[in-house]
Amino acid sequence: MVASESSAVRLRPGPALVACAAIAGVAAVIYFFWLASLTPLGGDRTALLPVVAFGSWATFSVQVPVRHRNFIAGVVLSEIPALVAIVFLSPWQGCLAMAAGHCAVRIGKPLTKSASNVLAYLVSFEVGQLVYHAALHGSSPVSPAGWGAGTATVLAVNVVDFVLLSAIWTIAAIGWSPNFRAIAVQDLLAVAISSLGGLVAVQLVWANTWDIALFVIVLVAIGTAFRGALVSAQRYVNLERLYEATRSLGSLRSTDDVVRAVLSSCEALLGTTTVQLVTGGTSYRLCADGALSASAPSPRTAPVPDDSGSALGGHSSGPLVVLLDKDDARAGYLAVEAQREIGRPDRRFLEALAANAWVALRSAHLHEQLALEASERRHQAQHDALTGLPNRALFSESLNAALAVEGQKVAVMLVDLDGFKEVNDTLGHHTGDSILSQVGQRLAPLAERGWLVSRLGGDEFAVLVPQAPDMPVIKDAADDIVNCIAEPIAVDGLLLDVRASLGVAVAPDHCSDSASLVRHADIAMYAAKRTGGGAHFYDRSEDRSTLRRLRLATELRRAIDGGGLDVWYQPVLNLVTGGVVSCEALLRWEHDQFGPIPPSEFIPVAESGGLIDQLTWLVLTKALRQAKAWQEVVPGLHVAVNLSARNLMSVDIAERLSRELDKSGLDAASLTLELTESSADPQGAERALIDLCDLGVNLSIDDYGTGFSSLSRLKQLPFHELKIDRSFVKEMIRDKGDEAIVRSTIELARSLGRTVTAEGVEDGTTFRHLQSLGCDAAQGYFLARPLPPAQCRDWLVSSAR
Ligand code: C2E
Ligand code: CA
Ligand code: CA
Repeated sequence: MVASESSAVRLRPGPALVACAAIAGVAAVIYFFWLASLTPLGGDRTALLPVVAFGSWATFSVQVPVRHRNFIAGVVLSEIPALVAIVFLSPWQGCLAMAAGHCAVRIGKPLTKSASNVLAYLVSFEVGQLVYHAALHGSSPVSPAGWGAGTATVLAVNVVDFVLLSAIWTIAAIGWSPNFRAIAVQDLLAVAISSLGGLVAVQLVWANTWDIALFVIVLVAIGTAFRGALVSAQRYVNLERLYEATRSLGSLRSTDDVVRAVLSSCEALLGTTTVQLVTGGTSYRLCADGALSASAPSPRTAPVPDDSGSALGGHSSGPLVVLLDKDDARAGYLAVEAQREIGRPDRRFLEALAANAWVALRSAHLHEQLALEASERRHQAQHDALTGLPNRALFSESLNAALAVEGQKVAVMLVDLDGFKEVNDTLGHHTGDSILSQVGQRLAPLAERGWLVSRLGGDEFAVLVPQAPDMPVIKDAADDIVNCIAEPIAVDGLLLDVRASLGVAVAPDHCSDSASLVRHADIAMYAAKRTGGGAHFYDRSEDRSTLRRLRLATELRRAIDGGGLDVWYQPVLNLVTGGVVSCEALLRWEHDQFGPIPPSEFIPVAESGGLIDQLTWLVLTKALRQAKAWQEVVPGLHVAVNLSARNLMSVDIAERLSRELDKSGLDAASLTLELTESSADPQGAERALIDLCDLGVNLSIDDYGTGFSSLSRLKQLPFHELKIDRSFVKEMIRDKGDEAIVRSTIELARSLGRTVTAEGVEDGTTFRHLQSLGCDAAQGYFLARPLPPAQCRDWLVSSAR
């Protein structure tokens, strides 16, 4: 008979009653058509009826546990009395005795379920009688043929009972999930033990009816001894399980692993079971495929404190609830619904398991917390706080990892914002930060392509492209990056235009190690900056130019100290009087090896190499003395000297200049300092500009038109003159746009009360046109080229005549 009938299975009354009625009908049909006429083969021993009924009750109510390794099966031995009934009682007596015993066991249990169990067994018992009579085929029940018939009968009863119950449960049960392996093992054990026991009983009764008493006594004695041994065996098994579970729990580091281990230990203990572990507001259970499912805990399983306040709680009708911490129900609990009875040893095991689970859960939680903190710290160490992008450390690490992959093409793009320092200085760090984080946000989506976008520091970003595509594709991506940064950025209601220069270098095309790759991308980025921004690929010839720059820096230092630099002068003429008004001092460097090096090349080298102050003072001291000397030739002659933005950063510039003016004897009003628009703009320069103005020197905005001075800003600056950039002047006769710029600049300067000088005048037409526009002064090859001091003196002398 099916020993593992699930206590957790509940039947829907409607379908269950229909099934019961159908089975009862089958039982009646079998009885009246085939059984009624049969007579007991072992002779009529009606006196045995109460004994069989008692045997039926006893064997149905006690499951004999049989242990195999860690598996304990509950076996029902009801086929022992059944076999005695088939051999020695008439069919109706047998049915009555077996059904009565079975009914007695089920007193107090749900009715539909009891009815279906009893009726299913009745039909299988009837089938068993038919099988016995057919199999014996006239032989003696106590012959080998009888033994075979007995075994076949027991097998038939078990199979039919299982088939019928399975059918009923399939139709009517809620939540029935049969463990066929366990059922098969239990039934096979039942068949083996019951047929052996049944045959011995038949043998004894055959000889003498009341030998059955002897059989019962022996059975009870064996059962008692066996049960004692089995209980201690089960304790031992449970202990062993507990030991294994505890040992495995101790080494687990994640909550999920602990929960899974606890749930599988419970299932191993109780067989087909529904176990939930509820902790931290989540209810976990194991799915059929071994996966863990988490859900909100159901109130049905919630623990209720019992009278003794012990670890066991729960509703009497619901699952068994075992608290993880017996002193604190909030820690969580195990809710167990077993398909067999949960005995004391099982409870002990569950309590100990729950206590160990609680310790393991807390330790796993601690581990998870630590791991989380460690990963947060690692994240912080590898990411930039302002933009949240990976920082230089993570970039370098990822670059090295990408280069370590054999045969992989890797591209590095370095992005630098143009003029960011000025924005930061002018509009404040708050605006600067906002721009940086918005640029970061615009670049971040590149990560979706598997690229690493990082902020290396300041206004410098880097994009690492592992498995780089072909050059044209990278070029397009680089252009996209530059364009997306160029979209106006909104900060505090202002729309700012931010431009970027981007340099790309690719390994292994350009080099193969990380340091060179970054350096090459850097060279390309500076080349992009020099050529007015945008994206630029690394080019070997630029590397040479970088080398040349490095070399020039060293040579320039030597030239400053060793007198290798000359100052030439270019006269400036008044357009109204035609007289010379000023000379602009321009540096000249004739290198032994490289030949003449233009100021456009060595001035940036001096600026980046920290030599610009020395250079400027070299020009200033010479120019002041020169002008003083030439004032004898041209009275009131001015001299113009170019300043770099960096010169204005020295706090003592005005003071020092005042001393140099004193030494030279030149009047401050005879000196003009030329500054480009951008160098005059930063806020840091304002103090120096005011001090210089106070000193009495003239200030001139050089290369006007190439920068981005706003009118309002221009008005604030304390300058006296605008010098229109030669690029506009040169083309103004042919280009209407350039002419308009020159014309409006002259008008603007007039309205602000400033004078205008046009530089780069290369022909007479331009000269005359400037005159007609009302420009104040002009400078250019048409009038005079920059000249060495001696030649300039001659030129001044001849022009003064
Ligand atoms: P800048 O201040 O605009 O100087 C005028 C430049 O225009 C000079 O170039 C001059 O030779 C050139 N120039 C004059 N007339 C004409 C013309 O008709 N046509 C053309 N195409 N060019 C003309 P140079 O001497 O090569 O200087 C280039 C730049 O280097 C200067 O531009 C200035 O920004 C810088 N520089 C020169 N000397 C110094 C210096 O002592 N200190 C600083 N900070 N910068 C200097
Ligand atoms: Ca100049
Ligand atoms: Ca200029």
